[in-house]
Amino acid sequence: MQRYKILPEKRFGQNFLCNDDITDLIISESGIEPSSRVLEIGPGIGALTRKIAGIKADITAVEIDLRLASYLKEDLPSVKVIASDFLKIKREDIGPFDRIISNIPYYVMTPIMNKLLSGFSDALSMTFMVEESALARIKASYGTKQYGPLSVLVSLYGEFNKVINVPDSAFIPRPNTLSSVITLKKTDEYSDVLCPEFLTFLETSFSQRRKKYLNSLGTVCGREKASSVISAVGLDENVRAEDISPEIFRKIFDLIR
Ligand code: SAM
Repeated sequence: MQRYKILPEKRFGQNFLCNDDITDLIISESGIEPSSRVLEIGPGIGALTRKIAGIKADITAVEIDLRLASYLKEDLPSVKVIASDFLKIKREDIGPFDRIISNIPYYVMTPIMNKLLSGFSDALSMTFMVEESALARIKASYGTKQYGPLSVLVSLYGEFNKVINVPDSAFIPRPNTLSSVITLKKTDEYSDVLCPEFLTFLETSFSQRRKKYLNSLGTVCGREKASSVISAVGLDENVRAEDISPEIFRKIFDLIR
């Protein structure tokens, strides 16, 4: 930061990791090896990127801040840096990858995770630094208020593991929340359903979460079909979206597509 006279930009959620033990732990838990092809969202000044490049893994990093993207290109020439907002990027603009890693900018955590889990779910694993208070939402069970599209995607993608809580002192500048490192490991049981259309379907499904699910499903496939699909998967006509398990959402999506 001193070398390039960087002042962190709050609007981009810039809290840079500055604790070597934590970055080492994140890399070792991420499953990244020299043969890996890694996609990193928000490399910042390269706390994780530098270590991944150091073990000679292939790495593509998407950074919204043009200043940081250009410093990073200069500092780590082996890294493919894409200077862009990840939320605007198309899947085909990114080369092949098998591991995803991100110290996620917290202000866009949900859209970034939703996009990765629905459009980039062929990755073998995803490792994230998230706000500790968001964990309840990320791994919420059905029947709870926190349950929504993100928890459905996480559950269908695979195995959730919380690695460690990270104190604010591990960042410059310090965020005003606790953070946690999590890993998601892909399992093949249900992940075949994960695609951008499934995310749209889930967002519509939860758009009126307190009302009968029949109403929102009806907007997708017509009320008659919605009613027959709901009974085909063994649910009551009065069921609400928040009471439907991830596996049943997958079945419903399969039946209507
Ligand atoms: N990975 C670095 C680290 O661990 O120190 C930086 C993490 S910082 C919390 C988040 C980074 O994501 C910042 O560099 C920020 O500029 C970048 N960022 C924020 N929004 C983004 C977006 N929509 N697309 C890509 N990068 C983004």
